[in-house]
Amino acid sequence: MTDTAASPAPAALRLPAVDKVLLSPEMAALRERYGLDACTQAVRETLAQMRASAQQQLRAACGSAPADAPTIVEVVQSAGQRLAQRFAPRLRTVFNLTGTVLHTNLGRALLPQEAVDAVVAAMTAPANLEYDLEDGGRGDRDDLIESLVCELTGAEACTVVNNNAAAVLLTLATLAAGREVIVSRGELVEIGGAFRIPDVMARAGGTLVEVGTTNRTHARDYEEAISEHTALLMKVHCSNYAITGFTKAVSDAEVATIAHRHQRHMVVDLGSGTLVDLREWGLPYEVTVRETIESGADIVTFSGDKLLGGPQAGLIVGRKELIARIKKHPLKRALRVSKLTLAALEPTLRLYLHPEKLAERLTTLRLFTRPQADMRERAQALLAQVQQALGPRYVVETAEMHSQIGSGALPVENLPSWGLRIHPADGRQAGRQLTRLEAGLRGLPRPVIGRLHDDALWLDLRCLEAADETAFTRQLPLLNIA
Ligand SMILES: *Cc1c(COP(=O)(O)O)cnc(C)c1O
Repeated sequence: MTDTAASPAPAALRLPAVDKVLLSPEMAALRERYGLDACTQAVRETLAQMRASAQQQLRAACGSAPADAPTIVEVVQSAGQRLAQRFAPRLRTVFNLTGTVLHTNLGRALLPQEAVDAVVAAMTAPANLEYDLEDGGRGDRDDLIESLVCELTGAEACTVVNNNAAAVLLTLATLAAGREVIVSRGELVEIGGAFRIPDVMARAGGTLVEVGTTNRTHARDYEEAISEHTALLMKVHCSNYAITGFTKAVSDAEVATIAHRHQRHMVVDLGSGTLVDLREWGLPYEVTVRETIESGADIVTFSGDKLLGGPQAGLIVGRKELIARIKKHPLKRALRVSKLTLAALEPTLRLYLHPEKLAERLTTLRLFTRPQADMRERAQALLAQVQQALGPRYVVETAEMHSQIGSGALPVENLPSWGLRIHPADGRQAGRQLTRLEAGLRGLPRPVIGRLHDDALWLDLRCLEAADETAFTRQLPLLNIA
């Protein structure tokens, strides 16, 4: 190391040389932990910052008060903070107390333990991803889950891609490029900003033919729009909105019948796509993939990480010959999933073979079905600790609230829940107090994300399961509401 090229310090400030700091015994632990390159950079940046602030102070004091030179220990301490920050993971686990279980911005479905174990195994050892263990030849990665998906949905075949947006894109690119796709105006959805049916259609090379009106579409609207250019009739699930009032939509079965009468295919973008009838668990009704296939759809696409409760993925199920064409499209290679996704998906799907245990083992379903009394009890148990951490400036109460399934699944349905409702003790400046509180909670080692609503911060306890409660309460004393 010959680096002593620290730029000249102002007369009043003598900074230790970079080398001297790096070679100091105080630096040894940081060098061991972060390596020489990162440490050199951190020390240089620290010294540069100290120089700049000393110069500023000097100017402010008109050059009369010479600043104290920082010691090596001080430089190491400050460099250590820089290094810790630089090496801290950017993707962090948080507490989702928003009340939205499948929160897209917080990563949607949490994986069941079986899936987690399978992912770890697939990450740390070679696997038969595309290797046929029967004959030693090349395999197809979709084969790993195809029979399971077919059993659970009644479809003939299946392929998996990166997400449902990819599933829709690939399906349209394969079956509708250069041709027309008929979609009801009531179903031209936008999901989370970037997924819009008209845009995806354009990217896939298809031409959208809109029929009906926003609130009413009739069978004859589809019928009259069919031309020699028509490739598909498509239905899109109204995932994140509801059209109510004077409405008319044509059922999947009717649209399929019309399509087939004209030798056309019928495609459904189901969005969330549940594999089971959620009413069996006391949840609102959502059409299942099986029902959609039974109603005559030739292709159905849906997400892996919404109601299904698995990893991010897009499943395309349906007729064998269509799936075969979809799999041959060059985009399939670009959109295919990794072994980690398949590793997580397979055990998640297998949980569905044992429906009696599903609500216990499938994390998302367990959260959806968590008894309100359970959350109410936890709210009462946590109240005092949270109040103590927040101090007298805030009032913490237990309160009934309503969770959402999220990710556009059942957007108008609420799940009765319970949690903590926090509002500033002093009504003046309540807005600012709440913003501070929110920021403080976000600043915790494991950030706590709540929901601002009605001049209060709501912490919905549905997604705070027993196993995580200690981690939640243990960090509360660190709360800093400056
Ligand atoms: C969620 C959704 C999508 C997008 O699915 P991703 O898995 O997020 O890509 C597309 N269509 C509908 C109807 C949806 O609900």
